[in-house]
This record gives sequence, structure tokens and C-alpha cells, in this order.
Amino acid sequence: MVRTLPSIVTADAAGIAAAARALRDGRLVALPTETVYGLAADATDDRAVARIYAVKGRPTFNPLISHVPDAEGAFALVRENAWAKQLATAFWPGPLTMVLARRDNCPVSLLATAGLDTLAVRVPAHPVARAVLAAAGRPIAAPSANRSGKVSPTTARHVEDDLGGDVDLILDGGACTVGVESTIVDLSGARPRLLRPGGIGGEDLERLVGPLEHATHCAVVAPGMMASHYAPTLPLRLDATASRGREALLAFGADVPGGFTLVLNLSSRGDLEEAAANLFGYLRQLDRTSVDGIAVAPIPRHGLGLAINDRLRRAAAPRQ
Ligand code: AMP
Ligand code: MG
Repeated sequence: MVRTLPSIVTADAAGIAAAARALRDGRLVALPTETVYGLAADATDDRAVARIYAVKGRPTFNPLISHVPDAEGAFALVRENAWAKQLATAFWPGPLTMVLARRDNCPVSLLATAGLDTLAVRVPAHPVARAVLAAAGRPIAAPSANRSGKVSPTTARHVEDDLGGDVDLILDGGACTVGVESTIVDLSGARPRLLRPGGIGGEDLERLVGPLEHATHCAVVAPGMMASHYAPTLPLRLDATASRGREALLAFGADVPGGFTLVLNLSSRGDLEEAAANLFGYLRQLDRTSVDGIAVAPIPRHGLGLAINDRLRRAAAPRQ
């Protein structure tokens, strides 16, 4: 079988412009950051974000970091506080990711944040990444450009070897230098909390914001690990094939059972990427309606369907 390889493009002015154009068109672009190569997509485009998850082959929706060219861009998406301003001045651009409350008008896809009300933002230091972000003019979601479980790529060739034809363009900016992921600090709570150690030391953060709580000392290490995290308010019933009482239906595919008060179809043509793109938005929409519960049609258990089923299982789990 002939596989179309993505073009590896040198990160000169023309390459950067092509990458920014591709991102604006909803395509996937691998690009260098100071940590590792990122698999980048327009963070405001549900379908493009769904493709990131599909290509990485993750069985869950881990929230993604949104990359922006400067602190001003970051604080247009999230509500900054005194800690965030101090850390931004000291460490941006650089390998520090801050988790803060989303603003009400934040355009980032709910899929990119796995339905959370917080958003992780970072201003990378790599000149190529910064140039692409500036030219794209929108927040860019970018986890590491490797299949789930594989080693993170530090050259354009690594990306091509691992992701092959599944990425539309690979921007070659040479080998990455840091190789360590960004430090993630959650500033959305009562105290700053270190979620992931990384390129910037915890002590350096503590000098500015005081003692950090450590995620390992808390119940939740990463979002999504808690069984009923960010569940809808209404009860959720999975694998529903017929109506029971005053329920709304989250349907999938062409066969939609009758008798439901309200129906939203994740994808009437049975497309899992489209379903993933719609999942969190539709759940929220149904959660705001006056029904007694939400029934969810069976979703195929392969490809992105694994991550969709994982999320639905958590949303339906007994509340904690
Ligand atoms: P990466 O794999 O380097 O793209 O980092 C993504 C990680 O950032 C996720 O696995 C989460 O642990 C963390 N993260 C992203 N968004 C959030 C958020 N809103 N709240 C808490 N952690 C987040
Ligand atoms: Mg990774």
C-alpha cells in the first residue's frame, strides 16, 4: 500500500506561513517547541482537536495545553490572578504551563479541555513555535507529536517515522533542546498546586508564589482520573436503545430510537471524529434542559470511540 507522506517543510518564512495557513484550515501540523515536537491544531476547532486525539490514539481525553504567543493572549482566554501575572513575567516565554479558570467568552474547544472549566495555557520560547502562533492568530493545542505510549519526538524525522501520513505538514526546525516537558502549575484554586514537574523547578516558582501544594499529596493527580469528575448534573444512562420516561437522547448514527423528549445526534453518519467533536458541547446542552435524565446510545468501542466511552463511563459513574 502506498502511504502519502506529509511534506517536511523547512521552518523558514515560507514554511512558517504554510504551517499557519494549514492550522487556520483545520489541519494538523507538527512543529518544534523547546520541549519536544508538538502535534498542533487550532484549539478553537472541535474537529481539528478531535483529529489530535484520533491520531495520537489515546484511549481517554486528556485535556490539552493551549499555546499562545504572549501573556496577553493567554489572559484573553483565562482569568489571570496575581500569581499568574507574577509567574508570566518571570517565566514566559518558557516551559511553564498555567491552569486557570476559562473566561466565559473563551473560544477554545470544550474537547480540548475535556469538558473542564479550567484551561491550561503556555507561551513557548521556541522561535519557530512563536512565529507560527503569531501568524496563526489563534490558540493552538499541541500535545507531543507521537502515538500514545511512544517516545516523544525531538526531530522532524521522528515525527514522520511515528505519525507518517496522519499529519498534514511537518515543520522542520532542527532538534529540540530541552526534551523535558513543561512544568504545570494549577493556579485556579485556593493555593498554587504543582500538577507536573518539568522544565522549570518548583523552588523557582515557590520563590514567587510561596509554598506549592503537590498533586501527589492530593486525591486527584490529573483531571479525569477521578471516577465522576466533571459529570453532568442530570443522571446519565449508557447504551440506551429505547426510551424510559422523560429523557433526552444523545444519539449516534442513523438509527435513532423514538419516544425521547429531545434528541441531539453526536454524528448521524456514525463518524467517531464528528462525535468526539460534539461530545462535551452536546452533554452541556442536554444538561441544561428540563428532562429527568440523559440517555446515551451505544457508541462503537474502537478508535476514538474508546475515549468517548471512557468519558461517558466517568460521567455516568456514581457521584462522589
Ligand atoms: P501534554 O501531554 O504535555 O500536552 O500535557 C497535557 C497535560 O496537561 C494533561 O495530561 C493534564 O495533566 C494537564 N492539563 C491540561 N489542561 C489541564 C487542566 N485544565 N487542568 C488540569 N490539568 C491540565
Ligand atoms: Mg506526550
